[in-house]
Amino acid sequence: MGFGHHLQSGGDAHQALLHLMDQELKLLETIQRCIHIRIKSDREYAMALSGITTFANKHKILDIETPTLNAWNTVIEETETVSRYIKQNAEELSSVTLERITALIRDKKQTQQIYKTGRERIDQDFKQVVDQEVNKQKSKYKEAGRETSQAKRKFEESVSKGKTGRDLDSAKDRYVKKTRKLHATHNDYLLATKSAILHQNGYRETLLPRLLDSHQQNQEEIADQLKDLLSDYQKKTNLSRKEFQSSHRKVEETLAALQSKEEYNSFIQQHKHEPPPYVNIDFDKSVWEEYKDPMLEKQEVVLNNLTFETVQHSSTMFETSLRDCKAQLDEKLKQLNDKETEIAELQKLGTEGKPECGVKTREQRELSQAINELKCTEMKLTAQEEMLQSKISELGDKEPPAGIDIADVSVPPPAAGEKTGGIKKIKSIFYTGWKMGGGGGGGRQSVSSEDPDPNDLQEETNDDGYHDVNMFPAKSLTDEEWYHGAIPRTETSQLLKEEGDFLVRESSQKPGEYVLSVKWGGIPKHFIIQSNAEGQFRFEGQAFPTINQLITHQWQSRQPVTKKSGTILANPVQKDKWELSHDDVIIGEKLGRGNFGDVMRGVLKDDKTPVAVKTCRETLPKQVKDKFLMEARILKQYDHPNIVRLIGVCSQRHPVYIVMELVPNGDFLTFLRNQGGTLTTNQLVQMSLDAASGMAYLEAKNCIHRDLAARNCLVGNNNAVKISDFGMSREEEDGVYNVSGGMKQIPIKWTAPEAMNYGRYTTESDVWSYGVLLWEVFSLGSTPYPGMTNQAAREKIEHGYRMSAPENCPQEVYEVMLSCWKYQCSERPLFSDIETILQRLSKLKF
Ligand code: ADP
Repeated sequence: MGFGHHLQSGGDAHQALLHLMDQELKLLETIQRCIHIRIKSDREYAMALSGITTFANKHKILDIETPTLNAWNTVIEETETVSRYIKQNAEELSSVTLERITALIRDKKQTQQIYKTGRERIDQDFKQVVDQEVNKQKSKYKEAGRETSQAKRKFEESVSKGKTGRDLDSAKDRYVKKTRKLHATHNDYLLATKSAILHQNGYRETLLPRLLDSHQQNQEEIADQLKDLLSDYQKKTNLSRKEFQSSHRKVEETLAALQSKEEYNSFIQQHKHEPPPYVNIDFDKSVWEEYKDPMLEKQEVVLNNLTFETVQHSSTMFETSLRDCKAQLDEKLKQLNDKETEIAELQKLGTEGKPECGVKTREQRELSQAINELKCTEMKLTAQEEMLQSKISELGDKEPPAGIDIADVSVPPPAAGEKTGGIKKIKSIFYTGWKMGGGGGGGRQSVSSEDPDPNDLQEETNDDGYHDVNMFPAKSLTDEEWYHGAIPRTETSQLLKEEGDFLVRESSQKPGEYVLSVKWGGIPKHFIIQSNAEGQFRFEGQAFPTINQLITHQWQSRQPVTKKSGTILANPVQKDKWELSHDDVIIGEKLGRGNFGDVMRGVLKDDKTPVAVKTCRETLPKQVKDKFLMEARILKQYDHPNIVRLIGVCSQRHPVYIVMELVPNGDFLTFLRNQGGTLTTNQLVQMSLDAASGMAYLEAKNCIHRDLAARNCLVGNNNAVKISDFGMSREEEDGVYNVSGGMKQIPIKWTAPEAMNYGRYTTESDVWSYGVLLWEVFSLGSTPYPGMTNQAAREKIEHGYRMSAPENCPQEVYEVMLSCWKYQCSERPLFSDIETILQRLSKLKF
């Protein structure tokens, strides 16, 4: 099988051969061009690699030595070696391979030429012999035949006509001549035919096949040379050649020898030192050099009437932080668990040591570190919280002891004229808790049978034969003017003003048990009314079937309640006008859930006035329950369209109710979230103005709200906003209130820095919260400091961060917000100022 046998066709095969040769020539030229490019790029690559080495050497680290650093130096050295090999190859390609391809192109062109001219020549001969010669002889033959036939006919005519002589001879000669010529032509034709047959045979069997075969051989030789050339090219461009491999192997072996565990051995060896000694941070008694207070000698947390509020506040702070910390810890532990599962799965897939596994392992280590830090924080917070909490628990329901001997030291009341713009400036360094009997930082503590003085306690509780369970039917008792129902003990202190003032109440600690509270010796005393097995009531003396009778007897006989205390009942304290009977209110469905219990819709039985009824869950701890009525006590004194109005209190029995005006559109936050989108900027300004007016009213009354936020405002008819939820509020003479803590979580994102840091609540701290409320209003109920935890928000605020203006918030309103968030509380505006500004803004068209 070859060209000679299969490619004889002068048409298709020949054309195909010519086309093949053209394409092959082009291929060779392309290869030549590519080799050029390859040489260029290899030279450049070699140069770039060498550049890496130069850069690395320029930045070589000389002052430390680690296995990894040494390995890196090997990497760089071998990079240079590889660069050298590549350059060398490029030069060889240029000098040898390129020359060869040029020669091959020349050969190819020659071969092409030889075939073309050879073929043209033999094809021409073939045509000459086969076509032209034979045809020429053939037409000569036919011509000679025609002439001979004519000469014969003429000779026969002469014979038949009987011609003789010259005429006959002439005809005869002509006939003979023509016949001779015919015969000669016949022979020529025959020879030409024979020659053509032989030529054709030669052409078909020898000339053309030989030419084609010889051409094929030339072609094959060139193909061989090309193969050789390409092998040469491959060899010179093969980056996996022995020398490259050995260079890479060298790097590989160096890297394989690296052991992370040994990485820092020599470094450690070189730099090892003893760990720093523990710093002595024990309690340093030199703090007593200036002043030694005997109460502080124990190096324990002191809990007294001076520190009670701050201790509770700090405890709440620790509690809050601890809760935050535990939540974060839980979250991180969960993340760690997930990460470990992911890593185990990756390891199963055999990706150990691969980057994706490395990333996960690093994340796992980061999580473990974060967990350790959180555990450390948790440990600290737990210890701190326990230090405070154990003191608080130790104190239990008792009043805190005096922190200072007030016989010798008195705390001066705030001086007249200290009030600025309705807010009294803080002068006293003593925080006066509301638990103290209103004495402004001093005064003996109240005594109660729940916490009686030791003498009263003996008289009241150690009297054998009496049970302390009272089965007395509450109905007849509730009719007594001096029976105040379930008011908290703390409130009694304020009701008992004169010596001998008395009242009876239901114990908030033990519902069903009744207590007589009397002001005696300048302080309130509390006596548990004992009941015996027969269901009779007594103190020390005679027993009576009803409490009414017992009290009436004590009052009218003017006999001391107990001999030791000498307490005499002089004036019954009447219950206040706000008192409603439970039967006066018809309770409806639930409106919401408050801190103390559910808030229900209701109507007054008499005139069907719609009301909201706040209830207090009986299961709450006594301390918490006592605070429930505080809101009512505060609200009793207020009457303003932007303050939720109190209607009455049902405290005759448990559960105690606070009855308030029904504010139909619910809490402000939910209102903003649900309907904020339909409100215009002017409406939002008006609602903010309502809140400011309510707060300005409270400011004038020295009332500190302490929990101002959209969730604690209500929305009434015509979108009127009313300040509500006075559960944390206090009216303070000196304008400062210290958090009593415990019950409610501190609303960190709403609370001013000084209130957070020192528990110092003032109207100015309310102004801060008002700024946050404004932000809530104009962000239509978003949660402040979006995306930040309480802790993060606190820290950022301390570093000067303030929230940016909500979308579409007028600049003037944002300026009010910023002024409310001045770090220095004295720089914040008064509510009366804010009211004036918003009044002006409410007249603009936004
Ligand atoms: P607490 O003072 O116990 O925290 P709130 O004052 O926050 O209770 O009341 C809880 C919910 O009860 C409010 O969010 C609101 O939906 C509803 N609510 C409270 N007071 C009223 C009222 N006077 N009129 C209408 N709904 C009220």
